[in-house]
Amino acid sequence: MRVDIITLFPSMFQGPFDESIIKRAREKGILEINLHNLREFTHTKHRTVDDLPFGGGVGMVMKPEPLFEAVEKIKTQADFTSRVLLLSPQGIPFCQEKAKELAKEQALLLICGHYEGVDERVREYSVDEEISLGDYVLTGGELAAMVIIDVVARMLPGVLGCEQSAKEDSFYHGLLDYPQYTRPASFCAWKVPEVLLSGNHYKIKLWRRKKMLEATLRKRPDLLRKIKLSEADKKLLREVKERLADANKTAKS
Ligand code: SAM
Repeated sequence: MRVDIITLFPSMFQGPFDESIIKRAREKGILEINLHNLREFTHTKHRTVDDLPFGGGVGMVMKPEPLFEAVEKIKTQADFTSRVLLLSPQGIPFCQEKAKELAKEQALLLICGHYEGVDERVREYSVDEEISLGDYVLTGGELAAMVIIDVVARMLPGVLGCEQSAKEDSFYHGLLDYPQYTRPASFCAWKVPEVLLSGNHYKIKLWRRKKMLEATLRKRPDLLRKIKLSEADKKLLREVKERLADANKTAKS
């Protein structure tokens, strides 16, 4: 996948993209990340990228000309049609489903805003989609771009050691992940659940599924309302609910 990022602060990306899984994905050629300094698309003496808002008000607005020029030039460099994303608190909230969808693209072009944001004409005529990281306001789009690329990258085939890994993570199939344990089997007298040491793969699979349902029920019951559970899952969920209700009764008595 080719990813182009238009930013006023390319050095912010040093570090997050130069370590660990993303670094290896770039080295393997699975992920190509190109950073473009917006100032390089200006033609004024002071390389101005922002100006005062029409109508008055506080702050500065990012000018349309450098952004339009940057998007057009970068699009001609890419071998595939780039999907142009504007990072914005007003966009659709980013989630795992959106990441799956973006991971199918061959090229993404991300625009990081700053100050009071970008001239509205950029959003209207140069962008395919506005994406938000959440209902809060960041100082700029750079951190949002890093998060989105990180999430999308781990869905690309070959990026994680085991492809199944991403598919077992929280949210991939609408549920939270099951609890994970590693050695030692006993730590401060807290023991790892017996079933995980049993070597019985069927029982382990069943236990994990039940724990996924339990974690989701306890921590994010809203997710359970959004997914269609199989009959087997419904049965497991009933068992979980019964067990939790019993535990509640015992705690009260
Ligand atoms: N005045 C804008 C508004 O209220 O909609 C906020 C501008 S914000 C200070 C500057 C830039 O940060 C935005 O243009 C956007 O690129 C980025 N940004 C801020 N919050 C974001 C969020 N929740 N998700 C994605 N990008 C965000």
